[in-house]
Amino acid sequence: MIEHFQTDSRQMLARLRGVMAEDSAGQARLDQITHLIAAEMFTEVCSIYLFRDDDTLELCATQGLNADAVHQTRMRLGEGLVGRVAKTSRIVNTDDAPSTRGFRYMPETGEEAYTSFLGVPIQRLGETLGVIVVQSKQSRKYSEEEIYAIEVVAMVIAEMAELGAFVGEGAAMSARHQHPVMFHGGTGQEGAAEGHVWLHEPRVVVTNPIADDPQRERERLHESVETLRVGVDRMLDTAASGDKEQLEVLEAYRMFANSKGWMRRMEEDITRGLSAEAAVEKEQSTARTRMSQATDPYLRERLHDLDDLSNRLLRILTGQGAETGAEMPSDPVLIARNIGPAELLDYGRKLKGIVLEEGSVGSHAAIVARALAIPLVVHAERITTEALNGDYILVDGEQGAVHLRPDENVVTAFRDKMAMQAKAQERYASIRDKPAETLDGIHINMHMNAGLMADLPSLDGSGAEAVGLFRTELQFLIRNYMPKRAELSKLYARVMDAAHGKPVTFRTLDIGSDKVLPYMKSAEEPNPALGWRAVRIALDRPGVMRMQLQALVRAAAGRPLSVMFPFVAQQEEFFAARAEMDKALERERILGHPLPETLRVGAMLETPSLAYAPDTFYRSVDFLSIGGNDLKQFFFAADRENELVRRRYDTLNVSFLSFLENIVTRCTSLGTPLSFCGEDAGRPVEAACLAAIGMRTLSMRPASVGPVKSVLRRTDLEELRSVIHDARENGLQSVRPVVVEYLRGKL
Ligand code: PEP
Ligand code: MG
Repeated sequence: MIEHFQTDSRQMLARLRGVMAEDSAGQARLDQITHLIAAEMFTEVCSIYLFRDDDTLELCATQGLNADAVHQTRMRLGEGLVGRVAKTSRIVNTDDAPSTRGFRYMPETGEEAYTSFLGVPIQRLGETLGVIVVQSKQSRKYSEEEIYAIEVVAMVIAEMAELGAFVGEGAAMSARHQHPVMFHGGTGQEGAAEGHVWLHEPRVVVTNPIADDPQRERERLHESVETLRVGVDRMLDTAASGDKEQLEVLEAYRMFANSKGWMRRMEEDITRGLSAEAAVEKEQSTARTRMSQATDPYLRERLHDLDDLSNRLLRILTGQGAETGAEMPSDPVLIARNIGPAELLDYGRKLKGIVLEEGSVGSHAAIVARALAIPLVVHAERITTEALNGDYILVDGEQGAVHLRPDENVVTAFRDKMAMQAKAQERYASIRDKPAETLDGIHINMHMNAGLMADLPSLDGSGAEAVGLFRTELQFLIRNYMPKRAELSKLYARVMDAAHGKPVTFRTLDIGSDKVLPYMKSAEEPNPALGWRAVRIALDRPGVMRMQLQALVRAAAGRPLSVMFPFVAQQEEFFAARAEMDKALERERILGHPLPETLRVGAMLETPSLAYAPDTFYRSVDFLSIGGNDLKQFFFAADRENELVRRRYDTLNVSFLSFLENIVTRCTSLGTPLSFCGEDAGRPVEAACLAAIGMRTLSMRPASVGPVKSVLRRTDLEELRSVIHDARENGLQSVRPVVVEYLRGKL
């Protein structure tokens, strides 16, 4: 029986190939296909429904139903049995369609005469393009083999649709990847970008879904899988042993590459008439559908791994490497499922924008994108499936919106917005060399945050007076090995050179929590944000910190040096870290290296505990810098990485502002220099409030210096202070509404 059907499906595919080879129009092709399938499957009806928009399916061709219904009959996603197949991406197979839940009678098609119904989704890589249906008068359930045959046909149809084989009149028959699509994601880095798509991993196009020599296809599959296995083993050999995540992925690759089930299913697909490529893609499609339905994160990850592995296999089979011959546009907007920080740095500033299907706000890629000031949208679901190399694309980093192939109206509105931003930039440039002085004559020190050499040119351009926070961990994160002392000291020296005498405050390595070094073993922690991180690691395993402190002293080479320790929660941690600094100085002195001209050693205030540390602590540090991102998450007990809660509490909540004000008061009375270097320092309204409660030094991204300075120069801090005071007196939860109103009056 199976043998019989195998032969049939191969014959059906062979005939299908004949149809495809003919030089006919899209409609004629679809008609021929429905005719052919109905005949081959000895069934009265075969119909093909395709999407005309996101939630409407249209009957595009039929053998057996009323021909007048073609392009007339439509159903919404989820409506009727066809709509159900499309919505759930699951097959419906029934011997009594009219009594099946969801059945909808469509008189114009004349389908009441048909009892049996088999509907199969037409899918490509997990994306449903339509539904193929066979129906018959005789009441019967279609067999496994018949279902399989239709699935294979559906897959070939999907592949042909991708290649534009059915393009004809009407929305449902228009070429794919030509409609405008909008994506809503999350903001990774603000800013607007206009450009053309550059796919980080170009899609492999299968041009030969049907093959007539299964033996040859099996051989091709085996040879390619062998190449794949060897490649995976090699990757495993050279993988960094400490990187748990990478090893897990590679082990999963190896497991799939050796999986008999996977191989067997692909061989069966080939036996039924598919080419080796199409067989790989069919399995990949199934995995993608499962992936979209899987709720278990571990399973989803593994299905992702299978997806990656399938892409690798397809590249081997088709010979289409990452190099497809496509030329990078002059205004590239990078599209990827995910990307590592080092790869992103390789692209560098030439990228106009970045859109990631996954990614996260706190990911290393996001940190790099921020450092390079490239607009980034994360969580743009299905972008890698929809976008083609060269597509015109607009990225709105502020709103987390992406417009792919946008229509005229969107482009005009977007360009207006960009023009407004450009005007604002001009305004900021005009005050670049002016001080950030408020209307009541108070000077606010504008510093910038940095983390890469690439940031340094912004120091002059932005008008910042110093680098208030240099995050040293980026240099560790973008490598897959521990950097050497000489390498670091050279780099730090270059940073100081590039600052042209402006002060730079280096923060020692802040790893742990979300920042995991691929080459350093990390402990399995139930709650990493509250776990073994930053100065805690540094004090427990002082080797790296010692090396880094020595590199800093050596880089200063007699120049002034400013260093701070992250995530200090109690004074002893600072004293211990400070003692390491003294040892580093002593070591350098003994080695005969010049010591820094001046040395400032400070701490970051990122946990509420430090706000209440003894006076001795405040007197011992040379300065304090509030890491508002962490401090706020611990103050409100709301994870800064968790989309569900991260925006829940306002920085301008009176509790938090009062807390910050207490810190300012303590620092003032004890003579401790204080700055604020969290993201909020770069938000104009927040920055104005921080200044109003007495903060005199703000460190922010370079791009924020202009907007913040512009607002400060139009603010009377004494007035704003009383606005905040009144809001508190009146019992407001957040001072934001009244502050925004006050500032608006100043524009
Ligand atoms: C902060 O926590 O506010 C901070 C500046 O450090 P990071 O964002 O690198 O944790
Ligand atoms: Mg922090």
